[in-house]
Amino acid sequence: MELLSIVVPCYNEEAAVEKFYDAASAVCVGLADVRVEYIFVDDGSRDGTLKAVKELAARDSAVRWLSFSRNFGKEAAMYAGLEHARGDYAAVMDVDLQDPPGLLPELLDTVRGGEYDCAAVRRVDRKGEPPIRSWFARQFYKVINKMSKTEIVDGARDFRLMSRPMVDAVLRMTEYNRFSKGIFSWVGFRTKWVETVNVERSAGESKWSFFKLMVYALDGIIAFSTAPLAIASVLGLVFCVIAFFAIVFVIVRQLVWGGSAFGWPSLVCIILFLAGIQLFCVGILGQYLAKTYLEVKGRPIYVLRESGGGGGHETRA
Ligand code: UDP
Ligand code: MG
Repeated sequence: MELLSIVVPCYNEEAAVEKFYDAASAVCVGLADVRVEYIFVDDGSRDGTLKAVKELAARDSAVRWLSFSRNFGKEAAMYAGLEHARGDYAAVMDVDLQDPPGLLPELLDTVRGGEYDCAAVRRVDRKGEPPIRSWFARQFYKVINKMSKTEIVDGARDFRLMSRPMVDAVLRMTEYNRFSKGIFSWVGFRTKWVETVNVERSAGESKWSFFKLMVYALDGIIAFSTAPLAIASVLGLVFCVIAFFAIVFVIVRQLVWGGSAFGWPSLVCIILFLAGIQLFCVGILGQYLAKTYLEVKGRPIYVLRESGGGGGHETRA
């Protein structure tokens, strides 16, 4: 019988874990010819998440868990889960039921059909989200798709079901700065998009503040595009051309009318403006350098504290 691994990243989700398990297993018993294993990844939670997961594991040998030594972020949690998945298929789902388990049979059938290697979910609305956040999100997708050759689909959730070859390809992307929306797209394969409406969280609250989302967006752009690096060259060229015409203008004015040694305030404005542009460009360069620095260190993507479940023993990492 085939095996489906469901990877579930959890960070401070004690209230949501059991709800998720109940909802998901209600759907999974209806899946024909496939066994299911759950891999809960406790991303360094400080509440009772791990305890709740261990309780599930004691009841059901299909539940396995990994627990990080600290919070490494959802991207790292997904990577760890996929790395430990043994399934012929692997799905990634949020624990807050914003990824409706009801879609699992459709996703599985799509991938099993053989035509697609991956079935992914995108939401077609952003109901229940602050309008300003939706606006920024839409702008982000516009910008990144202009800048990057890798297509980033607007509204794409991380909820997706993949075939084993695709999972292996994702696991070969061992970069430290992980931007999964880009990684899933970069590895290629044939993806079918399944559309759904936005679902509100079942319990707890979102871990994403507006600021965190901004940083995430910038990380995504830096990870999948080098276009910002070209900004410095383009701006440099533009200002050289402007400077050339300015010089010609000043010389002509001096020769024809004379007395052009005025304009101290405009000079100050120009110097400030150009200094700003220069610092901005150095900043862009710095961002790429910083990412390269972190990448070169070759640090592990996550560190396990303990793991267990699946009817086996607990292991202390
Ligand atoms: N999550 C995680 N580590 C983090 C932040 C979030 O594993 O540092 C998990 C979280 O438990 C949830 C999923 O990632 O299962 C999505 O998080 P959240 O619901 O807060 O994001 P949103 O749905 O608001 O985008
Ligand atoms: Mg959520």
